[in-house]
Amino acid sequence: MNDRRGSITVDRNTCVVCGACAAACPAEALVVEGLSLVIVPERCRPCGIAALVCPTGALACPGGK
Ligand code: SF4
Repeated sequence: MNDRRGSITVDRNTCVVCGACAAACPAEALVVEGLSLVIVPERCRPCGIAALVCPTGALACPGGK
């Protein structure tokens, strides 16, 4: 199941909620809350860094390179 918020898409079946994207995002658009990854769409630029650091390929960020 994909969850699209703003410009970021996260595949909830692939995400292991490791927090790597939350740590890397310069805009703090990704936040780990409990056992869930929360996306704050209004903060996303989008730069694409989160998608690059995701170890499972769960994130797609169309604006990123
Ligand atoms: S880096 Fe990938 S696997 Fe880790 S919390 Fe973010 S989306 Fe999920």
